[in-house]
Amino acid sequence: MALHTDRYSQILDSALDAIGNTPLIRLDRIAAEEGLKCNLLAKVEFVSSGGSVKDRIAKAMILAAERDGILIPGKSVVIEPTSGNTGIGLAMTCAIKGYPLIITMSERMSREKETLLRALGAEVVRTPNEEPWDSPKGLIGVAKRLQQEIPHSVILDQYSNVNNPLAHEYTTGPEIISAVVSTPSTPTRPSSLMVDVFIAGVGTGGTITGVSRALKKSHNSNCIVVGVDPVRTFPLSLISHLTLPKPYVIEGIGYDFVPQVLSREPTDVNHWVQTSDEDAFHMVERLMKTEGLLVGGSSGSVLTGALAWLKTKQGQKIAQAEGSNVVLLLADGVRNYMSKEWFLNFALRPGPSRIP
Ligand code: PMP
Repeated sequence: MALHTDRYSQILDSALDAIGNTPLIRLDRIAAEEGLKCNLLAKVEFVSSGGSVKDRIAKAMILAAERDGILIPGKSVVIEPTSGNTGIGLAMTCAIKGYPLIITMSERMSREKETLLRALGAEVVRTPNEEPWDSPKGLIGVAKRLQQEIPHSVILDQYSNVNNPLAHEYTTGPEIISAVVSTPSTPTRPSSLMVDVFIAGVGTGGTITGVSRALKKSHNSNCIVVGVDPVRTFPLSLISHLTLPKPYVIEGIGYDFVPQVLSREPTDVNHWVQTSDEDAFHMVERLMKTEGLLVGGSSGSVLTGALAWLKTKQGQKIAQAEGSNVVLLLADGVRNYMSKEWFLNFALRPGPSRIP
């Protein structure tokens, strides 16, 4: 029997130690279907113990707040506005550390996320979808009001907390670099041994900002970083600032304001791609049916954005360069969306049958 000496080869102290350390997996079948010569690689975050990329920042924000004396065990109450995944990471961390937790979340976010939050012991306050981000009735407004009313309550605020991008600069980015540089280049599987392109969906912008900094500062200053934003939202890229925000179904990416933690340095995020719900859902189906990956909706947006960018003039050069490494961050899993119409539409669609 092979002796595993790396991931989880030892007893862990708690589920917090099973956050991150996620695999980088080749999307060879999709790459072949698309005629890509580059390596298309997916950083698969649903295998993190809370089920998403946001576990990392939940843990980092709580540990930093404890270190700074902002959170006091047995006394503090944690409040956070979130699209759900940060809430689940916080609920897991707070369950282990014994902090009461209140999550404010807009009504459009999935039922599964709310159920899971409650199962982990959090209280959940739903806020109306149509409220602007700065309205007192929106998720951030309600969180702020609760903080004023509840003694010893703390909002860690993923939208402005430096530990959000830092968690990715210190963990997600280095893990990607380590997997790419430790996988040898062979004649059948050539590799530049560098991350040439990194593509992620943008919500708070913490993931793309932190990973970009890790890649560009310590690995490959020429790495191209591409941000994916849902079409019809307020474009973070400001390419069509005359379009008003319109509803979209994809969860976790696209806000109607520019969060403080998102780096606006054009050198941190080099390009933006906007994606539609329909394309994203189709790509989730492809990730499941051809790569066997149980990913959530924003992962479909990221694959859509990646394939679109690889068709641009600059993208074509990378796409056709054998051994270049294009890394996609797939942020969460299908667990969060099992009752959503878009998922059931393809999951239950009758296909070819061998049953006589
Ligand atoms: N995808 C999903 C499903 C998410 O929950 C989030 C977090 N809002 C993101 C992508 C984007 O991550 P970030 O907030 O780091 O930009």
